[in-house]
Amino acid sequence: MAKLLEGKLIAEEIKKELSLTVQTLKQPPVLASILVGADPGALAYVRGQEKTAQSIGITYKLHQLPESISEDELIDFILGLNADKNVNGIVVQMPLPKHIDYRKISELVSAKKDIEGMHPANMGKVLFGRARIAACTATAVMELLNSTGVDLYGKEVVVVGHSEIVGKPLALLLLEKFATVTVCHIATSKTDRLEEHVRRAEVLIVAVGKPGLIKGDWIKDGAIVIDVGINCRGNKIVGDVEFAEAEKRASFITPVPGGVGPLTVAILMRNLVEAAKLQQ
Ligand code: NDP
Repeated sequence: MAKLLEGKLIAEEIKKELSLTVQTLKQPPVLASILVGADPGALAYVRGQEKTAQSIGITYKLHQLPESISEDELIDFILGLNADKNVNGIVVQMPLPKHIDYRKISELVSAKKDIEGMHPANMGKVLFGRARIAACTATAVMELLNSTGVDLYGKEVVVVGHSEIVGKPLALLLLEKFATVTVCHIATSKTDRLEEHVRRAEVLIVAVGKPGLIKGDWIKDGAIVIDVGINCRGNKIVGDVEFAEAEKRASFITPVPGGVGPLTVAILMRNLVEAAKLQQ
């Protein structure tokens, strides 16, 4: 039976350390959070971020903007936050309305205040192996892997999902550890090759958003399984991996919820404190 990789416990440790660091700063760091519209999922996420920020001593300023805001107005708003010396970090909550180009917006947030690690300059530093701020979820996965004490050198690591916020930066962070990385995506599934890749994974990381995509009996004995997926099934939250069966085969496995999610928020706060330190 696998050991549970409880991200929420690691997150508590990180938050404790951060609250001590915050006390050494000249002023409490300020996180500006932009929410366009009132998506219920995004609102719930924002409330969680706010609670975490407050518990650390971070000032969390939510800017809820109307769904009808034009792209130009949003651009002006972000430029204002970039120029505001009292703001240390900026988060643009997803989803954005269809008339707003997400890529344009993520490039607009100043690299120094980009605590989500999505600015091309910060992404570029991940490629060169010298990132101070990397994508939060990818970093959270690396923290979880680190907590197992298992050396990734030469390990067969399979990442399922190649999004810009998880799969792609994660593949680069894993390469830094000399893992042998395979990245699977929609074409892997459509050509019926997902199972064969998953079956040989010594470390499996899944970030897709499809419940039950990874069958429990595909998991290699002793594998480490990190399930990033968050899906609603009835009134339950589940991941992308069939947990009950996978748990019998894996050596370590993340629960959903309580695995990657809480750690991602803690890493966001760590990135903010790091940005504030650099700015101060
Ligand atoms: P995206 O939708 O941006 O990316 C999903 C990825 O999965 C894409 O690369 C997509 O490929 C690939 N994919 C889709 N269907 C299949 C399939 N059948 N087989 C293999 N690959 C497939 O999602 P995100 O990366 O933003 O998020 C992924 C999941 O992780 C979601 O459930 C999300 O809620 C969760 N999440 C959790 C976080 C946490 O902190 N725990 C943080 C961020 C996300 P293609 O684009 O080519 O179709």
